[in-house]
Amino acid sequence: MAMNANTFTPETYEAPRMGTIDTTIAIVKVGTDGKTYNVHKALLCASSENFAAALNGPFKEGRENTIVLDDMEGKSFRRYLDWLYRGRFFNSNLEVVVDLHIFADRYLIPQLKRATVDMMIEDPSQVPRYRTVARAFRELPESSPMCDLIVQRYLSIFKLACDKNNNDQDRKDLPTAFLLKLFLGYAKQKGEKNNSYEWQEDPCKWHEHKTEKDSEACKKKRAVRKAKGVR
Ligand SMILES: [Zn+2]
Repeated sequence: MAMNANTFTPETYEAPRMGTIDTTIAIVKVGTDGKTYNVHKALLCASSENFAAALNGPFKEGRENTIVLDDMEGKSFRRYLDWLYRGRFFNSNLEVVVDLHIFADRYLIPQLKRATVDMMIEDPSQVPRYRTVARAFRELPESSPMCDLIVQRYLSIFKLACDKNNNDQDRKDLPTAFLLKLFLGYAKQKGEKNNSYEWQEDPCKWHEHKTEKDSEACKKKRAVRKAKGVR
């Protein structure tokens, strides 16, 4: 028997062989302007529990074979269509990957979630921008492995230069949950050893002296006290 999209479940979904699928078309209205896409109903249903429930259910969406996705962007939806029909992506940018993962999480598309996780793992050259991190932490559940994966990437490859890809507002908007995971992650990496006691070397660095002269006087005073053995 030819592979039929109807034999897929969301857990086993992969791009079908064209010409073997049921030709019923569903209409998907995307974005605030309601741009319409004609998509094979069998593929939508085979990939997503959420779309299957909507299109096979007793409500208006099921009766009219129409789904409205007014809270998502057209470009994200078109990337989903690339994956749905061809089983691959044409853009591996991490911001796009995270965006698609959020879409897959919201509409219960497990194979797309896995595919975006794999994309994230395959390219270890960059970290997603702060704005994308904030979006992931805001829109994915607290237990999401993608959130942890983002933290792990930051722990292993984030460099100061990466910070330059972000603006001040995005820095301020970094979620506390992300920052907490990150600094606990650093502590875990560091283990029991302390990195450096550089901060102990020159107390004047922390004294807020107004002039160099004040700072010198303070240093001398400290040297005298030290020589006398007074703390
Ligand atoms: Zn001082």
